[in-house]
Amino acid sequence: MGMQAALHLLYPPQCISCDAAVTTDFGLCGACWRETPFIVGLVCDRCGLPLPGGEPGETALCDDCMTIARPWGQGRAALLYQDNGRRLILALKHGDRLDLARPAGAWLHRAAAPILRPGMLVVPVPLHLSRLFRRRYNQAALLSKAVAGLAGLDHCPDALVRSRNTGTQDGRTRDGRLANLAGAFRVPPRRRRLVEDRDILVVDDVMTSGATFAAATEALHAANARSVCVVALARVAKDG
Ligand SMILES: [Zn+2]
Ligand SMILES: [Zn+2]
Repeated sequence: MGMQAALHLLYPPQCISCDAAVTTDFGLCGACWRETPFIVGLVCDRCGLPLPGGEPGETALCDDCMTIARPWGQGRAALLYQDNGRRLILALKHGDRLDLARPAGAWLHRAAAPILRPGMLVVPVPLHLSRLFRRRYNQAALLSKAVAGLAGLDHCPDALVRSRNTGTQDGRTRDGRLANLAGAFRVPPRRRRLVEDRDILVVDDVMTSGATFAAATEALHAANARSVCVVALARVAKDG
């Protein structure tokens, strides 16, 4: 009997959201799957927001991405930050549910598939050290590691570091968020050679205004990255 089979006898697989019995590890039961707002169909090529209609393979941008400067190339998101999507993110963020990183990594990998390139370097948005101690782990780094593993790409958890403590983004307007995060990240000297002339995929748990991805992209461009794409586990929809 393999290790996996032995573990199944001890711990029958459960839905990661409601603990109902499921037939495979690391997944959702049918009811939770239906309540989880996975993003499918036509999406904004820059931020991953679902868009109405459209032909398969069409490249489209949402209203925000047509008016706001987005320094990165393409972007995707796996879920909308609402309903069960929101609950799963909060559990990953604050509930010490490290087991969620594995299924979430698979969802991210599927969402990012159209924008992945061979030889890409996968990097997480960094958590400030003070928050890293309080929260004990960087959920973005757990997700980026899972995506890199599934995609067979190199992963570098510390290619980006925070230049300063930016505090919380909560309660700030979009302009306030952008101003708060300008210059917030940098590529440390020891990672310059890894980033230089490389296609980079930046991973975060949630995309709200895009200010965090913009600041990360600017730091990577300043370190001469060839291109930057982004993927978030969940995208906050404006009216969602
Ligand atoms: Zn369930
Ligand atoms: Zn967009």
